[in-house]
Amino acid sequence: MDERYNMGFQWGEAMNDRSKLQGLVLRIERTSIHDGRGLRTVLFLKGCPLRCSWCSTPESQQFYPEKGYGGSRCTGCGICVRSCPEGALSLSADGGKVHLDAAKCNNCFVCVAKCPQRAWKKYGSMMSVEEAVHEISKDEIFFFHSSGGVTISGGEPLGQADFTKEVLKACRKRGIHTAMETSFYAPWKRIEKVLPWLDVLFVDIKHMDTDRHRELTGVDNPLILDNIRRAGESPFPLEIIVRIPLIPGINDSDVNLLKTGEFCRSVKKLKEIELLPYHRLGMETYRNLGLEYQLKDLVPPSQHQILERANFLRRQNPGVPVKVGGGFG
Ligand code: SF4
Ligand code: SF4
Repeated sequence: MDERYNMGFQWGEAMNDRSKLQGLVLRIERTSIHDGRGLRTVLFLKGCPLRCSWCSTPESQQFYPEKGYGGSRCTGCGICVRSCPEGALSLSADGGKVHLDAAKCNNCFVCVAKCPQRAWKKYGSMMSVEEAVHEISKDEIFFFHSSGGVTISGGEPLGQADFTKEVLKACRKRGIHTAMETSFYAPWKRIEKVLPWLDVLFVDIKHMDTDRHRELTGVDNPLILDNIRRAGESPFPLEIIVRIPLIPGINDSDVNLLKTGEFCRSVKKLKEIELLPYHRLGMETYRNLGLEYQLKDLVPPSQHQILERANFLRRQNPGVPVKVGGGFG
């Protein structure tokens, strides 16, 4: 399983000199209302061992910086083509768009810097713990007035467990409420680094059948379920919120929701279940990265379907709060 974390350099992993510890950060979003209580500053880390077919942030998957090309912004001026030191770019004959020869590209990101239209975009940049905490602490006034805080998300934060731990620890020392969003597909030795510094743990259960889970995400689920149980039994006073991405026809059946609810009821420290309805917001990013979107024919659930599934879970799991998240509630 560890090889899934070895796709490239071990960003943010143990180094001898902690002062030089850096993380590969995808982006920082401020004043989010969907990633924990109050207003949240969300630190998105890059790199994930899963490949969920419905992933809405494909730019977060690889453990290295990438670039994307937004053709709709491109005017065909050719500046990037002329600037590329490897001759990896050419103007397409059909109308001013740029073609990338990926085999020639060395990811120097000169094209990103040169494009006047910002059609090229870089995903991922290195940041020290101090820089990340400095950015997060700019929002302390919002945290104070809304009971908000920081949420570390991804990608998979446990792909950079040491960096995640140091950021959480520094935030905790400043009195900032802390949360993490994770797949929990990670060795326990990574998880135990971060648990002491967490107030809230958001963890996904994507499917209860491990074969189906593997088909949908690329990995089995026993390790994930075991990690959730262990986190519930840990001595730390964290709250666990289990999230179910609600994907029509894929994991929203009665049987799968019944099994998921049954498992959740057995988890100590469970605060609530949150449904995250499928949406298609990441489709353009797939195009920009030159990736195929696997679920292009899948229709997002209607409001009625979402509420019906939420009520089903409530009926089956009395006493367990069930919320609808992601702005659909
Ligand atoms: S990243 Fe560098 S090598 Fe690759 S296309 Fe852009 S300018 Fe050329
Ligand atoms: S520099 Fe930007 S706008 Fe000009 S051709 Fe390249 S991508 Fe298009």
